[in-house]
Amino acid sequence: MSKVIFLADDRRLAVPPGGPSALRKPGEPLLDARRRPLRDLRISVTDRCNFRCTYCMPREVFDGNYAFMPHSALLSFEEIVRIAHVAVQQGVRKLRLTGGEPLLRKDIEVLVGMLSGLRTPEGEPVDVTLTTNGTLLAKKAAALKQAGLSRVTVSLDALDERQFERMSDSRVGVRTVLRGIAEAARVGLAPVKVNMVVRKGLNDDQILPMARYFRGTGHILRFIEFMDVGATNGWNLSEVLTGAEILQRIAAEFPLESAEPAYRGEVAARWRYADGAGEIGLITSVSQPFCGDCTRARLSPEGKLFLCLFASQGYDVRSLLRGGAGDDDIAARIAAIWEGRGDHYSELRGRETMHSKKIEMSYIGG
Ligand code: SAM
Ligand code: SF4
Ligand code: SF4
Repeated sequence: MSKVIFLADDRRLAVPPGGPSALRKPGEPLLDARRRPLRDLRISVTDRCNFRCTYCMPREVFDGNYAFMPHSALLSFEEIVRIAHVAVQQGVRKLRLTGGEPLLRKDIEVLVGMLSGLRTPEGEPVDVTLTTNGTLLAKKAAALKQAGLSRVTVSLDALDERQFERMSDSRVGVRTVLRGIAEAARVGLAPVKVNMVVRKGLNDDQILPMARYFRGTGHILRFIEFMDVGATNGWNLSEVLTGAEILQRIAAEFPLESAEPAYRGEVAARWRYADGAGEIGLITSVSQPFCGDCTRARLSPEGKLFLCLFASQGYDVRSLLRGGAGDDDIAARIAAIWEGRGDHYSELRGRETMHSKKIEMSYIGG
C-alpha cells in the first residue's frame, strides 16, 4: 500500500512502497520541474550575527527588540546530520554551512566533523565548506580544518576601515578579517574565496583596492551584485553596479580573460588575470541570472527547507524528524519538494517581484 506524505502547504504525496527510490531508477538524479538536479545544500546554523551589514541585517530592524530564534527551536547537530545524510543519498555533493554568522554557533567544528564523515552512495566523501564574516576565523581555522572542512568563503566589503565599518555596521576592524583569511590559507582551507558585495555609491570605490590587494595571493575575490533579498534592506536597482561594469573597471587596470566554470551550477563567472596573478569571480544574480543551473536547496536553522533565495515559504522537515519518521520518509519528502520546484525568481525580477514577501538572508544564509 502507498504511504501518504504531507507537504508544508497541505498538498499530499502518495509514495509507493519501497520509498522514494521506487520513484526513480537507481542512479537516476533527482530533478526538479525544470530538470535541475539537487546538488548543493546550504545549511544555516543560526539566525544571529555579530555584524549588522546594511544590506542584510540593518540595525533599525535587527535591534535589541528583534525576536531571534530560541535555542530550543534550532536543529541539533544530530538532526542536521540526519537531513544532510538523506540529502546526500538524494544527490547532494556539497554542503555549505552559513547563517547568520556560522562561527557563532557553539562547537561548530563538531558539526563539521560529523558532516565530513558522510559518504555518497558510491562511498565518496562530500565537500563541506563554510561562509563566514571572518571575525572568529583566525581562532577557529585550525580546528575547522582538522574536523574536515574543505574550504572557506570570507565576506569582506572594503579594505578602508571607515568604509568597512559603514558596510558591516560593526567595530570589528578589517585587520581581524584579514588575519582570519591568512590563517585559513595557512592551515590549508584554500583557495580562500573572498566575497565583496558591491553597493553603488557606497563601496564601489573599493573594487580596485580590493582587486590590487588580493591579486597574486592565491585567494579568489568575488564581486556580488547587491540583491533584493529579504524585505528590510531597502534594495533599489539604482544601487546595483552590474558585473559588466565591475569587470570593466578592473580590466582597465589589469587585462583579464574569461575562464570556464569549474563545475555545473557554479554561480560565479570566472575571469583570469592575463599575467597569471590569479582569478576573480562575478556573481550577477541581478544583471545576468543563472537560475537555469541552480542546483541549491537551503535548510533554515529550525529545519525548514527553502528552494530559492527569494522564497517566501519553506517546507517543514523538523516536525517529520521529531515525529519519529524514518530516513525513507524524509527522503520521500525531500524528493517530493524538489520535484515540485519551479523557481526562477531572478529571471522574473521586476515590478511584480519587488513586493513579494521574501525570507531574510540572515535566516537562510545566501
Ligand atoms: N555571515 C556570513 C557572511 O557574511 O559571510 C554568512 C551569511 S551571509 C548572509 C552570506 C553571504 O550573503 C555573504 O557573503 C553576504 O555578503 C551575502 N549577502 C547578504 N546580503 C546580501 C545582499 N543583499 N546582496 C548580495 N549579497 C548579500
Ligand atoms: Fe551577518 Fe553575514 Fe548578514 Fe553581514 S552578511 S549581517 S556578516 S549574516
Ligand atoms: Fe536559484 Fe532562486 Fe537564485 Fe534563481 S533566484 S538562481 S532559482 S536561488
